[in-house]
Amino acid sequence: KTVVNRIAAGEVIQRPANALKELLENSLDAKSTIINITVKNGGLKLLQIQDNGTGIRKEDLSIVCERFTTSKLVQFEDLNTIETFGFRGEALASITHVAHLTIVTKTATEPCAYKGLYEDGKLKEPVKPCAGNQGTQITVEDLFYNVATRRKSLRSPNEEHVKIADVVSKYAIHNPTVGFTLRKQNESNTDVKTNINSSHVENIKTVYGSNIAKAIEPVEAKDETLKFVMNGYMSNANYPMKKAIFILFINNRLVDSQALRKVLEQVYSLYLPKGMHSFLYLSLKIEPKNVDVNVHPTKHEVHFLHEDAIIDKIKNSIESKLAGCNT
Ligand code: ADP
Ligand code: MG
Repeated sequence: KTVVNRIAAGEVIQRPANALKELLENSLDAKSTIINITVKNGGLKLLQIQDNGTGIRKEDLSIVCERFTTSKLVQFEDLNTIETFGFRGEALASITHVAHLTIVTKTATEPCAYKGLYEDGKLKEPVKPCAGNQGTQITVEDLFYNVATRRKSLRSPNEEHVKIADVVSKYAIHNPTVGFTLRKQNESNTDVKTNINSSHVENIKTVYGSNIAKAIEPVEAKDETLKFVMNGYMSNANYPMKKAIFILFINNRLVDSQALRKVLEQVYSLYLPKGMHSFLYLSLKIEPKNVDVNVHPTKHEVHFLHEDAIIDKIKNSIESKLAGCNT
């Protein structure tokens, strides 16, 4: 049973950046405005995330790490209406099967914080009171300590750190009201730092530099019958880049859509010198019931209803901006 769970967990959590993405989304779901992340050895030794969100009630601490335990799914119909994709209740459970996980958390009403240590989906010992501010701190240590093959395939802590920084940066751009920091343990320098109540443009500048920030402009599209709204920022034709940056959020979750990516690359290729690329950050809101949420958690590729028609609308809005920019 343990081995089966470990294999299943290894599929959900393939590398430190996957684990961090799940933890980040939990912190955002808990309405945090400050999220501080500390990492050691690319997250393989230590991955710690501290937020100032709602916290977890003491009585829930014994079950939060069991599979399919979620506070985000009250009724079956919620499967269709829930806003977050993080409905599966699998992330914390999965992590406890492949790492040592500790939660320190405090809600607004509890007089003190509580601490739980977890292994294989269960508490290792009774929850203990401890010191702590409102919010939740989740510490993941020795990721894949019991999965030798995975450990061997992730040989470069540096590469893992870069992937973590990439995930944090993109969530920071998408959530400008939240202040994020990412740092390596025992280092005062931050790898990512954004301010609370910032803006999309400000955070794009912080992450990708002021040159990109100067070359971007807002873009939007929407359609009542297709039930979607898209907002974002795109680089203009006067700013060709060597490497493409394509950041896509659908209903606040970082995903990929190869279909959309390809169509937009094609549009840009008509306006940019050969072999040059663009910056795109797009936030798409679609009727939750129209998004295929049953994709495997590691598959960032997403499909949705009216995909071709919606992609076409987005393409048109971007193309008309590009056309306007060249004349
Ligand atoms: P899901 O997000 O799909 O509900 P998870 O395994 O990611 O499942 O988390 C399980 C539950 O633990 C959540 O539903 C939530 O109640 C609680 N939780 C996890 N992280 C946090 C956090 N940072 N702040 C508050 N609650 C949290
Ligand atoms: Mg979650």
